[in-house]
Amino acid sequence: MREIRHWINGQAVSGTSGRRLPVWDPATGDQQAYVIAATAEETANAIAVAKAAFPAWRAASLSRRAEVMFRFRELVDANRKEIAGLISLEHGKTVADAGGELARGLENIEFAAGAPHLLKGGYSEQASTGVDVYSIRQPLGVVAGITPFNFPAMVPMWMFCNALVCGNTFVLKPSEKDPSVSLLLADLLRQAGLPDGAFNVVQGDKTAVEALLDNSDVQAISFVGSTPIARIIYENGTKAGKRVQALGGAKNHMVVLPDADIGSAADAAVSAGYGSAGERCMAVSVVVAVGAVADPLVAAIKERIGRIAVGPASDPAAEMGPLITREHRDKVAAYLASPGSADVVVDGRAAAISDGPGFFLGASLVDKVPTDSPLYTDEIFGPVLSVVRVSSYEEALDLVNSNEYGNGTAIFTRDGGAARQFQYDVVCGMVGVNVPVPVPVAYYSFGGWKSSLFGDLHMYGPDGLQFYTRSKVVTSRWPDPATSSVDLGFPEVR
Ligand code: NAD
Repeated sequence: MREIRHWINGQAVSGTSGRRLPVWDPATGDQQAYVIAATAEETANAIAVAKAAFPAWRAASLSRRAEVMFRFRELVDANRKEIAGLISLEHGKTVADAGGELARGLENIEFAAGAPHLLKGGYSEQASTGVDVYSIRQPLGVVAGITPFNFPAMVPMWMFCNALVCGNTFVLKPSEKDPSVSLLLADLLRQAGLPDGAFNVVQGDKTAVEALLDNSDVQAISFVGSTPIARIIYENGTKAGKRVQALGGAKNHMVVLPDADIGSAADAAVSAGYGSAGERCMAVSVVVAVGAVADPLVAAIKERIGRIAVGPASDPAAEMGPLITREHRDKVAAYLASPGSADVVVDGRAAAISDGPGFFLGASLVDKVPTDSPLYTDEIFGPVLSVVRVSSYEEALDLVNSNEYGNGTAIFTRDGGAARQFQYDVVCGMVGVNVPVPVPVAYYSFGGWKSSLFGDLHMYGPDGLQFYTRSKVVTSRWPDPATSSVDLGFPEVR
C-alpha cells in the first residue's frame, strides 16, 4: 500500500514511527494509502531544517522571492488537472469543486507575488532636525501551518505563499485525512526555485502539532480547523510566546427577507448548503426564513434537491461527493435520526447512494428547526440544511448575532437599504449581500469573529503579510559635529 511521506529539506522522506494512519478513498470506502505519523523528534528535525534555511532565504532579494512565486504560479497552473485529481481522490469532492479550490489558492500566489510593492515601509524625512524616521517589515523566522481536511490545497496556500514571500521558512502539518497534495505542492515549490529546507511538510496528528507548539524555534502558528482545537492551539501557542492565528468552525446563516427573489435564494441555498457535501467552513447550514417567504422557499429548495447528482468524482456528472470518513458520515446521519420537533422535509439517508459503497449521504433539508436543537446549535459539517422560521428582520438579526460562531453570513433581499443595515448590524466577519459564500478575494483577508477565530489578524491578504512580519522603526541621523552636544533631556522633536 502507498506510503505518503514527509517532505524535509527538499525531498520526500519516509516516516519512522511505525504509527500508520489510514487514508481512505471516500468514494469506495476502501483504504488507499497511509501516512506514518511524525514523532516529536521528526517534527523537531523539520523545524531545525527550516531554521537552518532561514538566513539564506531571508537574505534573498524581494525580487528573487517574488520570482519564485511567479514560477510557482505557472507550475500550479500547468498542473491544475493533476492537483485537482489528487484532491478529489483523497477528499472525495468533485473534480470541478477541486478545481475551484485550486483557483482560489492560485489567487493567493498571485497576491504574494506582489510583495515587493506590498512590503514597502514608511519614511518621514526631517522628523526632527537632521533626523529621518522609517519603518521596515522583517520576517519572523520559522513559522508553522496546521490545516484541515476540507481544503487540502487552498488553506495551506492561504498560509505559506505570504509566509515564504516575506522571507520566513515554513513547516506544514496538513490534515492526515488527505495529505498527498501537500507533497505535490512542495515539489512544485522546489521546481520554482525555492531553496531546500525553506518549505517542509510533517505528516501526522496531535503528536506533531504538540511538537510544533512546544518548540521555541517556531515563531508563529497559523491554524485552521474546528473550534475546540483552534482554542487549544491559540491558548497553548500564545502561552509559549508565539504569534497565533487560529481559525475555527462555523454555523453560517443565510437570511432571506420577504422581498427576495425566491428562485435565486433557493439556488444560492442549495449551492452553498450542499456544495462540497456541506464540508466547507463557509457553507450555509441555516436558512433563516423571514415571514411569508418560508413556505415557497422550502418548496423551491426541496424541488432543487431532487435534481442534485450525488456520486464519485470519477463520474463527470456528479455535483456532490461523499463525506470524508465513515465515522463522520454516520455522525452527520445521526442528526436526521433524532430531529426532535423539527420537520425532516428531505431525508438524505433514503437516497440509494447512502447505502454505499463509500461515505455518501444524500442532501437533507430540515424545516422548523428550534434554536435549542442540536441541528441548530452544532456545526454538523455535512449536507444537512436547517431552516429556522422567524417573523421579522430584527428576529433574524438577533439569531445571527447571538450565535456562538461568526464566520460568514448572507442576506438575500432586493432592498439595498435593508442589506446595508444588515452589513452594519451583523456581528460576523464575512458578509454576503445576495452572495451565499462570501469568501473574500486574496487581496482582502479571510476571518470570522467570535468562536470562529482566535487571534487578532485574519488570514491571507494584507493581514497575512502583517502576521508573517514584524515592524521595525529606525530613527536615523548622520553625524554633524557642528550640531553635536551632550543633552540629558528626553529627545524632543520641535
Ligand atoms: P480538525 O480540528 O479536526 O483538524 C484540523 C487540524 O488539527 C488537522 O491538521 C488535525 O490533524 C489537527 N488536530 C486534530 N485534533 C487535534 C488535537 N487534539 N490536537 C492537535 N491537533 C489536532 O478539523 P477538520 O475536521 O480537519 O476540519 C474541519 C473543521 O475545520 C470544521 O470545523 C471547519 O469549520 C473548520 N474550518 C474552518 C475554516 C475557517 O477558515 N474558519 C476553514 C476550513 C475549515
